[in-house]
Amino acid sequence: MPVLIFRSGSARTQWWLDTFRERAPEIEVRLWDEPGDKSEITHALVWEPNPGVLATMPSLKLIISLGAGVDHLFRDPKVPLQVPIARVVDVNLTARMTEYVVLYVLRHHRHVPLYEARQRESLWQSETQPAAFDRTVGIMGLGTLGRDAAEKLVGLGFRVTGWTRTPRRMEGVESFHGEAGFAPFLQSAEILVNLLPLTPQTENIVDAKLLAALPEGAYFINVGRGPHVVDKDLIAALDSGRLSGAVLDVFRKEPLPAGDPFWRHPKITLTPHVASMSDPRTVIEQVIDNVRRTERGEDPLNRVDPQQQY
Ligand code: NDP
Repeated sequence: MPVLIFRSGSARTQWWLDTFRERAPEIEVRLWDEPGDKSEITHALVWEPNPGVLATMPSLKLIISLGAGVDHLFRDPKVPLQVPIARVVDVNLTARMTEYVVLYVLRHHRHVPLYEARQRESLWQSETQPAAFDRTVGIMGLGTLGRDAAEKLVGLGFRVTGWTRTPRRMEGVESFHGEAGFAPFLQSAEILVNLLPLTPQTENIVDAKLLAALPEGAYFINVGRGPHVVDKDLIAALDSGRLSGAVLDVFRKEPLPAGDPFWRHPKITLTPHVASMSDPRTVIEQVIDNVRRTERGEDPLNRVDPQQQY
């Protein structure tokens, strides 16, 4: 019998327990604070587990990340890399992320903050409005989330480019990849969207060098992870006018500390890591499916490559 350990303490714990019991009575579900004999645990459903804890479960067949990102798992130096890791890929999560990206691209493109400020001053004054097809949105990462956002932005008429690790083709999107493709990708990205996973290769990628390679007055939207950005380099680029503004949803330290300069920076719009989230109704079906797959000796869906860490 599969034994799944699950986080406890959230307001929805009872819903998860009841739904597991109803949908998959063959799975024994345990909570993290009452793990019982850890050698019996075969599956772990986790978000930011305490470092070292997964290594104390010798019978694990699968580790499932509750979210799309898996950097929280690789932060644990003892994470058992021989155990397959799966992540959530959820249409609802993807749709919400696309809403967020499109919202802030359009907000910048249509000068919304400027007109809101002018309204407060009763100022009737218009700006030149470029057409969408005269504006390039560059997306770092054309994975599950980046591709969907790219497709919707193409549908709105924007010129969209993408940058990936390996070559990727996508209709209507000019694609670049690898180190050689980075500079040509950056040089046209008037609105840069970060949808990369956080890995040793992508940490601190948004630094002074990257920001200097963007068109003058570019706009930056970070929905990847906080440690992608060198904070002081971002602030310097905003202060010098090289960047015209930034939207930040993710931060090195979350919650963002009260005194952080990001809070009050006039060119920064920030949100508390809400760009998207997993929908438990979809997630639970994927978890059950993946538990059953591993029990049948099959590969889980949405498996993470432990070498690449995404
Ligand atoms: P995927 O794994 O599906 O896609 C990752 C993309 O990044 C791929 O296109 C991949 O390239 C590219 N990539 C990875 N490493 C590199 C590299 N070194 N150089 C260039 N490109 C690289 O991820 P998702 O789209 O599902 O999610 C992306 C991230 O979004 C998550 O890891 C998470 O951090 C973040 N996220 C944020 C949320 C929020 O609320 N703010 C919510 C959910 C996720 P290739 O195609 O060649 O493999």
